[in-house]
Amino acid sequence: MTAMPAPVALLGGTFDPVHYGHLRFADDVRRALGLSEVRLVPTGDPPHRGSPSASAAHRLAMLRLAVVEFPGLVVDDRELRRAGKSYTVLTLTELRHEFPDSPLLLLLGADAFRGLPSWHRWDELFDLAHVVVVERPGVKLEATLPEPLLPIWRDRRVRDPKILLSRPAGAILAQPISPLDVSATKIREQLATGGNAALNSRGLLPPEVLAYIDLHHLYLRGSDAP
Ligand code: ATP
Repeated sequence: MTAMPAPVALLGGTFDPVHYGHLRFADDVRRALGLSEVRLVPTGDPPHRGSPSASAAHRLAMLRLAVVEFPGLVVDDRELRRAGKSYTVLTLTELRHEFPDSPLLLLLGADAFRGLPSWHRWDELFDLAHVVVVERPGVKLEATLPEPLLPIWRDRRVRDPKILLSRPAGAILAQPISPLDVSATKIREQLATGGNAALNSRGLLPPEVLAYIDLHHLYLRGSDAP
């Protein structure tokens, strides 16, 4: 029997800015599933929300600083290099061409998972990848799934992580992680009111990222970059 190739796992996001919620999520899943790495994929032009506050170059620079602390996390900037909306289905299609037989693992927070039915060509995602979903603090998963996701959740949900590593796509795994109640929105709000010192002391984002934000005067009220 031929062994399955190594899995390719990715966490997409605006990362505006990256914080320990993202980093712990990716690293906890990596450890729990025994993956050698997880790719963090910053969104260029996000389809589901307004333009990010910080520019793509700043968000990428902050991500690169953040992953230094996490040897198993790498930055994949393909969506920033691609023109047009950053549709996940396009990113997964590209990865599928690069890794024809590998399990692809799409990591999603519960809020992102619940919003899947509004994503471009969302029903194709399960042909391309597995989904690993974690509960975000305050977001109960199963009870809050929208109608179109329920049959998919029931049909595709697996409880054994090994199943994800034994086939290329199609399963959903709910992975518990230690929750961290932080969002980029809350961080931006705090930065806009000059709360850098408080953020630093609460350890919500890497100190190198906070120093970068200070240096470039990001997220100050009225300073939104294009
Ligand atoms: P914003 O507040 O600007 O919407 P965010 O902090 O939610 O940003 P995103 O870049 O939108 O971050 O999220 C990327 C992915 O990371 C999504 O799948 C999201 O659910 C997940 N995520 C973000 N914060 C956390 C967290 N604290 N715990 C677990 N998952 C998270």
